[in-house]
Amino acid sequence: MHDASTLLEVAREAVTLAASVCRQVQRNLDEVRAITKDDKSPVTVADLASQAVVAHTLRRRLPAVTLVGEEEARSLRDPAQAANLRATLAAVQTVWADCTEAALLDAIDLGRAQPSGSFWTLDPVDGTKGFLRGQQYAISLCFIDRGTPAVGALACPNLPISFDAPLDQADPHGTLYTAIRGQGAYEQRGDAGRASTARIRRADHRADEPISVCASVEKEHSNVSDTDRILERIGRAGEPARLDSQAKYAVVARGQADAYLRMPTKKDYVEKIWDHAAGALVAAEAGCIVSDIQGKPLDFTRGRGLSNNSGVICAAPRVHRLVIQAISELGIGR
Ligand code: AMP
Ligand code: MG
Repeated sequence: MHDASTLLEVAREAVTLAASVCRQVQRNLDEVRAITKDDKSPVTVADLASQAVVAHTLRRRLPAVTLVGEEEARSLRDPAQAANLRATLAAVQTVWADCTEAALLDAIDLGRAQPSGSFWTLDPVDGTKGFLRGQQYAISLCFIDRGTPAVGALACPNLPISFDAPLDQADPHGTLYTAIRGQGAYEQRGDAGRASTARIRRADHRADEPISVCASVEKEHSNVSDTDRILERIGRAGEPARLDSQAKYAVVARGQADAYLRMPTKKDYVEKIWDHAAGALVAAEAGCIVSDIQGKPLDFTRGRGLSNNSGVICAAPRVHRLVIQAISELGIGR
């Protein structure tokens, strides 16, 4: 196996290229919609193009890659989807010039591997609703080493690096987060290359300060009333900042918010590994505690889903203790 720093450089290159493709699709939303004659298709095009570019980059740089991606090429192989296929290929060719239809389909389907041993997991466009609204989304890639997230790269193409800029608007530069287990978390400007990389360490929350939290925009993804009950219980917490995707992990990792609460809306919903692996690694390496709503560590040994867990709490250590205690006292999830 390659050493972790080599894997990280490959991951950084892969998500940077994919972010460039996604930005391109987002800039031309109306054009893509016109070609494909479907309002939602830009996200399909971005998802599939992003997975193709990440898979191609991994395969080019590393032998014997196992990739567990969210997407597959089946729909694009349907002749009725010819317009989507053309639009996806055009998007991919902006960074992979000599890609053909066959190579594109093949690269996307590299991501159909079963999770076993050590493997990569990818969410090519995490936060698809945010992508369509022109708000936050992420490209999330993580190497899981025998059940443990070990190397992660999280591109947040619309996330401003400055805390002063509004989180609900697209920043022209974006931000990229990287982490190797045991070696800290790093932040760089999305369009500024490696040289701009700086370590992020989040300070613990101080008892005399108000608590700030973030949560999903989509009400089906995180229970709003449970979140409100917890915030009321822990005291001096403001309204949650709402943003899509694993950008929430980044916002807590860099100390802009004290907690990310993902409270289950359905008892049996199983979180997907690609929705958490890279973000959780970055946050943990920055000094956050990441667990499910009962305080159990996220268990990445269960295949494509976090079936041993329910929901997610990512927070500064002091706030994590308060939130888990509030959940227990309120009897949430029992
Ligand atoms: P977010 O942008 O944080 O709201 O999360 C987006 C992710 O939520 C998507 O990638 C989906 O995999 C995931 N998702 C879909 N349905 C649910 C659900 N009922 N509960 C939690 N997450 C969900
Ligand atoms: Mg996702």
